[in-house]
Order: sequence, then C-alpha cells, then structure tokens
Amino acid sequence: MYKATIGIEVHAQIKTKTKMFCGCKVEFLGKSNTNICPVCMGEPGTLPRVNKRAVELAVRTAIALHARINMRSIFARKNYFYPDLPKGYQITQSIPLAEGGYVEIDTGNGKKKIAITRLHIEEDAGKLFHTAEGHSFVDFNRSGVPLMEIVSEPVIKNEKEAVAYLKRLRQIVRYVGSSDADMEKGQFRCEPNISVSKDENRGTKTEVKNLNSLKAVERAIKYEISRQIKTIDRGEIIIQQTMLWDKKRQMAIPMRKKEGVNEYRYFKEPDLIPLILNDGDIEKQRKSIPELPGEKFDRLIKQYGIKKEEAEILVEFPYIASFFEKSVESGCSPKYAIGWITTDILGELNKAGKKFSDIKTGPSHLAALNKLIDNKTINMNIAKNVLRSIIFTGEDGNDYVKANNLAQVTDENAIENAVKELIEENAKEVERYKNGEEKLFGFFVGQVMKKMRGKANPGVVNKVLKDILNRR
Ligand SMILES: [Zn+2]
Repeated sequence: MYKATIGIEVHAQIKTKTKMFCGCKVEFLGKSNTNICPVCMGEPGTLPRVNKRAVELAVRTAIALHARINMRSIFARKNYFYPDLPKGYQITQSIPLAEGGYVEIDTGNGKKKIAITRLHIEEDAGKLFHTAEGHSFVDFNRSGVPLMEIVSEPVIKNEKEAVAYLKRLRQIVRYVGSSDADMEKGQFRCEPNISVSKDENRGTKTEVKNLNSLKAVERAIKYEISRQIKTIDRGEIIIQQTMLWDKKRQMAIPMRKKEGVNEYRYFKEPDLIPLILNDGDIEKQRKSIPELPGEKFDRLIKQYGIKKEEAEILVEFPYIASFFEKSVESGCSPKYAIGWITTDILGELNKAGKKFSDIKTGPSHLAALNKLIDNKTINMNIAKNVLRSIIFTGEDGNDYVKANNLAQVTDENAIENAVKELIEENAKEVERYKNGEEKLFGFFVGQVMKKMRGKANPGVVNKVLKDILNRR
C-alpha cells in the first residue's frame, strides 16, 4: 500500500505600496516596464534598501503562524541566469525571518497541525510573455516585488489536506493584512512537492508549478500521486524534477531537472547588513493581529450552533463573518442569517458576477426580514424572494413588501375559498386522499399556495385544509 507525502512552498506577495529594495510602485497590470529603476534592474553601483513595511507584515504573519522569530536574519544572493532576472541573482534570506510554527486544519476527521519549516522574505523576478509568432517579451514591473516564502514540512498526506492547509494559510495572510493572496493575480503561488513510498522512507519527490487555483492544486496532486504509483509499478524509477501543470490537458508535464542547492551558489548579500529586530517591533505587530480564522471558525460553531461547512464559508473572508455576526446582533436569528447569507446573498452575487462589497443590504435588513416572518407578514419563501430583490438596491424590506403587495394572507375566509375551489377542481384526488393516499396532502397545500400566489400563511392553509377535508 503506497503512502503519499506532500510538502508545500507558498510564495505570498506582501501587500506593500512599493518594492522590497527600492521605491518603485507595486502595481498589478501597470504599463510594462514603467515601475522600474536602477536598483530593481540591478545596475552596477546601485544599493538596495529594505522596505520596513514588508518586514513588519512578514513578522505579523510569522506570529499568526505561531513561528519562532529570528531576532537576527540574513539576506543572501541566490545566483542564477534567466531573462526575467536582470541582476543575475535574487535577494532572499539564508537565515530566515522565522522558523517553526504551524497551521491547524480541520480534516473532517479531527484537527491536524501542519508544521511550518520556515518563513523568509525575498524579491520576485520579472515576467516573460511569449507570443504565438515565437517572440518573447519581458516586463520588469514585478522585479523586486516583496514576497514571503512559507515552506511547510512534508506532513501532508493527500490533496484534501493540502487544500485545507492552503485555504487556511490564505485566510491567515488576508486576516492579518499581509497579502491579498489573489491566486489569479499570482499573489499566492503554491508549489507542492510530492512523493510516494511503501515504507517509512520518503520516495523521490517531484515539484509541480503553475497552479493558479486551489482546484488546480487538488487535481495536480491527485494526478501526480497516481502517475508516480503507476511509474513504480511498471518497474521504472521516479526522476526528481519540476513539472508544469497543464490546465488544458489536466496533466503535469516535466519541465526541468531540479537544481541542487549548491548550484545557486548562495552567499551573504554584501550590500545589506543583518536584519535585526527588537521585542518592541514584534510586540507592536502582535497587538495588531485580529481574531484568526481558525479561532473564529471554532467560536462561530460554538456560539451560534452553526454547521462546520457553514462556518467555513463565513470565515473565508472576515467581512462575511462580520456581516453574519452583525445580523445576529441586530436581531436576526442565526439560523435565518446563515441561510440567507450562504445561499441567497452569495448565490445572487455569484450569479451576477459581483463582489460582496457590491451588496446594498446590511445586517439590519436581515433582522427586519426576520421580524416580518415572526409577525407573520410574510413566509420564508417570500422573504427569500424579497431579499434577492433588494440585495443590490438596499430598499427597505417592509416597503418592498407593501409596494409589491406581498403581505401574507392569514384571513381564514380567503383561504377557505381557495380550498373549496381546489376541492371542486380535484374531486378525484380528494377521493383518493379520503381512501388513504395521505401523501396527496402536500399536493393540496402546494395547489392552494399557487392559487394564492405564494402569499398564504402555510400554517393557516394546513389547518383549513385539514378541517375541510375531514368534514367531507
Ligand atoms: Zn525599482
């Protein structure tokens, strides 16, 4: 029986206005080669200077990962040649900013701590573009953009754990404000290394690159585990190499043999002194850390009695969890709030291709709808329709109900008339019902609701229907 072992390297773009070692602007989709200067182009005689904000945000992230922060870390040069790297080396760290720590995930079968090896700061390279005609272009706007590289221990067992880890890690960097972590913008790049083995020793690993969604990570890991097992079963050996995920063909393609560490000829960056932190710097960052997603997840379940899957949707973005909690504070029941947010609001946003910040209804709107249900003005189905109609207008639910004449009918006479009509039109079904086919009751309720355009109070409909049918 084969066992898979997975470790993951993540490059998260640190959310700063300027680059890691110069004052150039960090901008997604800026005009090519406009945000560059002699420092990030690596021209001779230029000197890098450290972006203080980037260090602060990396420290904050390390604290949130429960990592041990090195009070003294060292910048180093990683030497290699590539057209997107004009300097011929990348500045990274040989003594990382932080080591150890963990991310706790929920495996669906209990909690598991995914251990972190280290977190270090480094700079990004430029970007190459290849045209169909065979021309290549390079944009250096990304050269020198600050990154945190976060490396996990190889303790991940399968693609599900990998996705749970990456999801939680992405939430953490967003919560502490150190990265926007938008995978499509390349702000959160994941490179899993994967091996399989039948015994305790780790097999030869391969690394997969070019994964720009969690779905891609999941598929690539599954693919690579199965490919390695098949390869070994055929009697062949696994080659240590870097693979590229081909989204179109849904397969990993060998890219290059993996370089050994000594091929990079790391050495201490001579133009930068050691990065020295003091307790005050760290304490300041510790104070700015909000409730983290793992803690929020546990608390929401305990405090509101909601399901794990529901809590997982709420914690994905802090503003969704906050919307939920404010709705409950305003007087909406947790049960209604969770349903309206996770299905109706997020569903409508998805359909309209809009963002959460586009919605105009606030927590008080949900509380008001809840009240309309409680005082029997409308039923749940109507409430859902009202909510969907006012999401992008912010109209008052009460006003909407009045303007569209949606108030529930509780008047027994009106409902009785509809029931009598129904019985006349469905004599055969009534006969069958009287002969014991009780499941027809649901059909009758549905027909009465239809006659009353969904506005009848379901409780009254049930009662009147039963009374009249029993009298016959
Ligand atoms: Zn620059």
